[in-house]
Formats: sequence, C-alpha cells, structure tokens
Amino acid sequence: MKDNGVLVLSEMAGAAKELVDAIIVNPNNLEDVGDALWEALNMPLHEQERRMKQLRYIVEKFNIHQWVRIFMERLNEVKDLQRSMQAKLVGYNTALSITQQYRQANKRILFLDYDGTLVGFHVNINMASPDDDLYAILRDLTSDPKNKVVLISGRNYKTLEEWFGHLDIDLIAEHGAWLKKQRQPWKPSTNLSDHWKKDILPVLNLYTDRTPGTFIEEKSYSLVWHYRKADQGLGELRANELTNNLKYLVVDMGLQLLQGNKVIEIKSAEINKGKAVSAWMQEESPDFAIAIGDDYTDEDIFKALPEDVVTIKVGGHVSAARFYVNRYHDVRKLLTGLIRSGASADESSNHSLQYSSGSNK
Ligand SMILES: [Mg+2]
Repeated sequence: MKDNGVLVLSEMAGAAKELVDAIIVNPNNLEDVGDALWEALNMPLHEQERRMKQLRYIVEKFNIHQWVRIFMERLNEVKDLQRSMQAKLVGYNTALSITQQYRQANKRILFLDYDGTLVGFHVNINMASPDDDLYAILRDLTSDPKNKVVLISGRNYKTLEEWFGHLDIDLIAEHGAWLKKQRQPWKPSTNLSDHWKKDILPVLNLYTDRTPGTFIEEKSYSLVWHYRKADQGLGELRANELTNNLKYLVVDMGLQLLQGNKVIEIKSAEINKGKAVSAWMQEESPDFAIAIGDDYTDEDIFKALPEDVVTIKVGGHVSAARFYVNRYHDVRKLLTGLIRSGASADESSNHSLQYSSGSNK
C-alpha cells in the first residue's frame, strides 16, 4: 500500500477531532479551502507519507470494535454510578422502621423542604401556598414537645414569614441566606454580598427578552431565572444556553449556579442548604433526624448530614439520600404516620387525642 496522498477534511466532520494529521479546513471559507489544496499539492512526499501512516494507524486502531468497546465501558460506568447513587423506595417495611425510630426518640429534628416536597408545583409560583391539610400536619408535628421542625426553602424570606411565621417552626430561607428561630426575628447569614448582581442581571435580562414566558426573581442574595411558563422546548434550550454562558463567569465571581425544577438560580457560593442544616444539627444534637427534599439543592442537605439520618428524596431515586418517595403526597402520608405513632407512644399524655385528629384528611 502506498502512503502518498493528502487528506483535506472539513472541520465540521466528526473525524476532524481525531484525524489531526489531515489538513483541516472550514469548507465555507473559499480562501481557506484554496490554501489547503495548495498546501496539499505542494506537500513533500516524505511529509505525505508521515501523515498518511499516522492517519491509517488511527483509523485501524479505532475500528468499530474499539468504538463499541469504549461506548459499552462508558455505559457501564454510568450504570455503576447510578447504582451507587440509588436510593431505596420507602415501602411498608422502611416506613415502619422509620416510624419506630421516631417513636423511640426523645429529641427529634425534622428538616423539610417546601416546594415539591410538601406541596406540588404550580405554573404560578405564588399559587403554591400552603393548604389547610399541610397546616394541620405542621401544627400536629410542632405540638409534640419532642419535635423541632425546620422548614428549608429556596424561597424568599418574606414569603416564608407570611406563610409560616406564625407557627412554632424554624425557618431557613433562600437556601440558607436568611435564618429564623421560631418566633424570633429573621437574621441574614453572615457576610454576604450582593454586588455581583449588577453583572449578572443584564445577562438574565437578555435571555428573558428572548424567551417569552420567562421572568427574573430577585432575592436578597440570589437571582433566579424562571422558565416554567415558557414553551417547553425553547425553555430548555435557552436554559442550556444560559448555563453555558454563565458557567465560567460565576466561578470567577465566587458564585454558584443551581439548576432547579424549571429554574436557574445564581447565588453566592457560600450559601447552601447543607451548611444551614449542619448548624442546626450541631446546636440541637437530636437523637432522631429526618430530612426530606426534592431538588438538586436538597442534595447538599443529604450529603451534609450524618449517615444515620433518615434522608428522603422526593421524585426520583438517583440521589445522595438513603430513601426516596415518588410524590409529595407520600411525604404527607409519612409525616401523618409519624404524628400518629408519636401520639400512641405517649398515650398517657393529654395530647394524644389532639395528635390523631386533623391529620388524616
Ligand atoms: Mg423543593
């Protein structure tokens, strides 16, 4: 086989990334193509042979069998990763075991995410306000003196105050940027700045203008781009573009970019739900802890908590959580079960009747 001849290859061909000894051209640029042909026609024979040998070597090495092998290896790696991250469904036995641990404990802490965990999602974010059943569950939980309920949300603290400020629960808003111990005033987490907003806002504005149905929500220490109301395909497309656009900028600015459920949130890298719950765990040192959440941001919670904590992901089993349930209804059912078992463990108490009512609607 002769090794003379030169390969001129379009930069748009997939092979251009591997066949680096070809002359790579932009086929839409006539001058570029002309130069390449000139270079090919005038290439010394020994250089042609050197390149051609290398090209043949690569083509022979990466044959169909090699590609399939690489592909299958990658596929297995992904499956292994998924398996290692797989949470277990909360079935009858798991629910029973969680309930038993709960009943035996004297100092319990419950970390509950709000959207997607205690309520479903609404197209209009302001419509996802708590309903009477949820209030009943929260009241029943908090009326047990052994319980501390901590509600954690990405939402702005004013909304949480309006919805839950009157209850005996602790609140963590905006992923940990604002904190409130029950019935006390809100406090911002330490040393946060929002100077970065002026650089990020114009980018978000650009995408909002180009994508009907999207809007920007400004929180004290974060900016959120919502695309739930946008056309689905376009929303996803723009979300990917926006992520790519901001990816490097946010790292330089000490920020982080979170992809939530139809939202992209940019906030200071120092804030995350995991840090917030760790502080609560240290302060309370409970003998039973449970954490439930549905979102990417809740993974920080699952990772931050000790292994014996009952961590539950809502809606999907690929998670750092130990367990999962399918929908927020399952969360309510589980909490209701806990309330009942707490009441039956404490039958001599006058509260028992109160616990068992109002939660099984
Ligand atoms: Mg959520």
